[in-house]
Amino acid sequence: MDTWFARTHASLRGAACVTPEGVSRAPLLLCGGRIHASLPAWAPQIDLRDHLIFPALINAHEHLQINAVPPLATAEVFPNSYAWIEAFQAHFNDAAVMAALRVPKASRLRHGALKNLLAGTMFVAHHDPWHEALDAPDFPVALLREYGWSYALGWNSYGPPVQQSFAQTPVDRPWIIHLAEGTDAVAQAELAHLDKLGCLAARSVLVHGVGLREQDIERIIEVGAGVVWCPSSNERLLGRTLDPRRLADAGRLALGTDSRLSGSRDLLEELRHVAVHDGLTPRQMLALVSTDAARMLRLPWRGHLQVGAHADLLIVEDRGGYEASSLIGLERSRIRAVVREGLPCMADPDFADWFALAEVDTVPVMLDGRPKLLAKSLADPALLALEPGLEFADARDRALASAITIEARC
Ligand SMILES: [Zn+2]
Repeated sequence: MDTWFARTHASLRGAACVTPEGVSRAPLLLCGGRIHASLPAWAPQIDLRDHLIFPALINAHEHLQINAVPPLATAEVFPNSYAWIEAFQAHFNDAAVMAALRVPKASRLRHGALKNLLAGTMFVAHHDPWHEALDAPDFPVALLREYGWSYALGWNSYGPPVQQSFAQTPVDRPWIIHLAEGTDAVAQAELAHLDKLGCLAARSVLVHGVGLREQDIERIIEVGAGVVWCPSSNERLLGRTLDPRRLADAGRLALGTDSRLSGSRDLLEELRHVAVHDGLTPRQMLALVSTDAARMLRLPWRGHLQVGAHADLLIVEDRGGYEASSLIGLERSRIRAVVREGLPCMADPDFADWFALAEVDTVPVMLDGRPKLLAKSLADPALLALEPGLEFADARDRALASAITIEARC
């Protein structure tokens, strides 16, 4: 047995495992990066009484490389995303934007991944051309692979051509496109246009959908397609977002952050935003970032805690009340532990023994003012320098990170 395999064994006992399907209090058995039905007697036991275990969250829409780029400094509301993209062109001459874009793309991609991990999000659908940095074995989160994508119907100069990309995407893989990102006639016409092009099918995943009309939503449900909802981004750019209820009731809605360039800080903040809208139950909100997202993105082993699932977990304190509600309003600094493939990667300091058992070296950090242990492999000073609210607890490490920050700004 290799050492990695041995290190991934753990029996998590005493916690309530929470998914949209319900709550289980049986021990959660981890082995080889997956959830197992049984474990050898020597497997370590982790006492998690008074805790809740959720499947790590799925972020169904993200642009990882632009999370440290300053947003447009305007309260202007745009009729559609194309108008916003036009307005953004002048923003590229802004000194702070130029400085942010001077940071090597590989680092920016990893920073976007780390941002997700800090919010208990272990799987991301990245909506930009592939980059070799995404294939690094130690990339901080798992990514959607083997999928097709185009950028948008009205922005052909970036990303694969719409019809060709759709046709080349196998029917059992997702094909993703920004669609109906606006409130005007241009946005409202996009679903019918996509349908006419022959690109609306069960594999179609449509991002935003603000301009969708009632009959468009019925058509999406009829063909078995899905929509990724990014309410923070929509409200900032367009002044409103879609009504999520019909799509959520049909299980055809997932949640995405977009990047911080237009959207929220992370998926937890996006969930807080969702909660202020009427109409979705806590169970439905949880499904947006777990089971429903996994179904739309064709991820049979994610978004749940059944035997065979990836052992990617988000662990929080059980403060009583309805379990699925515990995720709504959760601050990232209040996450007790984030687990990837059976190994803890960020947790409160009292989980030091678990890190030791799993032979994961850690670095003490502060996350939004609260002490945490972060897996050493993730504690790259260049990344911490890009993430507001995350800093080394040790003064010497902090000095190194701040030197990198100054270098990035020069
Ligand atoms: Zn986007």
